[in-house]
Amino acid sequence: MALIIDGNAVAAAVKAEVAEDVSRLAEQGITPGLAVVLVGDDPASATYVAMKERDCEEAGVVAFDHRRPADITQEELNAIIDECNADPRVHGILVQMPLPDHLDAEEAIARISPEKDVDGFHPASLGRLVRGIEGPRACTPWGVMRMLRHYGIDLNGARAVVVGRSTIVGKPMALMLLEENATVTVCHSRTRDLPAVCREADVLVAAVGRPKMITAEYVKPGAVVIDVGINRGEAGGLVGDVDFESVEPVASAITPVPGGVGPMTRAMLVSNTVAAAVHVAGR
Ligand code: NDP
Repeated sequence: MALIIDGNAVAAAVKAEVAEDVSRLAEQGITPGLAVVLVGDDPASATYVAMKERDCEEAGVVAFDHRRPADITQEELNAIIDECNADPRVHGILVQMPLPDHLDAEEAIARISPEKDVDGFHPASLGRLVRGIEGPRACTPWGVMRMLRHYGIDLNGARAVVVGRSTIVGKPMALMLLEENATVTVCHSRTRDLPAVCREADVLVAAVGRPKMITAEYVKPGAVVIDVGINRGEAGGLVGDVDFESVEPVASAITPVPGGVGPMTRAMLVSNTVAAAVHVAGR
């Protein structure tokens, strides 16, 4: 029986820490603010944004909602970002992805002031991660690191395998594990004999976007398995990248979907926003 890593419980612990910072800021007359930019009417994006705004409200962070139709121009999007960059009430800026095809996501991300980049996707933030300098870290892998720390999972010298090399999850995940002295392998769609590489892992992180792809065959007995995947299941519910039923008996610890990495991502967004406000307050 594997330990079930409880993302909701760790997210609650993060939120409690954040609440202390929020009340200290309140004593200085500062309310942390997050600008949320949502372009178009993709229902999944609208749901994510609603959840993020609810998290903010619960944490005492003001959400400034900027919703625009799908046909806005790049110039109009850039103008919203510029406005948020200049607004002292805004400590963090989130541009919900994906953007409609005619808009350049890279341009939008790079336009966000690095100090307000609470998603951790700005080239400056990723550069800081590579260089090992403190700064906003990408919320999903940062949340995974927080979970591992919460459960006392020792990464020092551990073999870690990350399946997926996206800029928002796989690559920053690998760098964060490396920062904690794991020996890291990053896999992707061209990796040869993926199950054999995954079986070397003491800590296996799946960020692939393929429902239940990681079966027991990929898992070394006793490994810690972190499932980042969020996929729509056939029955309409959420399904991870890990086949929980077959992997759970083999692993020593495993995150469920839902209730694993997902709540952590949202908690780290609030945490990054409050940290940005603390940074401004301390100047
Ligand atoms: P991307 O589609 O950007 O990246 C997927 C990665 O998986 C790519 O590197 C791809 O390789 C690799 N891959 C695809 N198929 C295979 C395969 N058969 N074998 C090995 N590697 C493969 O996805 P994201 O990183 O954005 O997201 C990954 C998953 O995590 C998704 O389910 C997403 O919904 C979820 N997610 C969850 C979050 C949360 O809060 N829990 C937040 C963000 C994402 P290649 O580069 O070669 O194409």
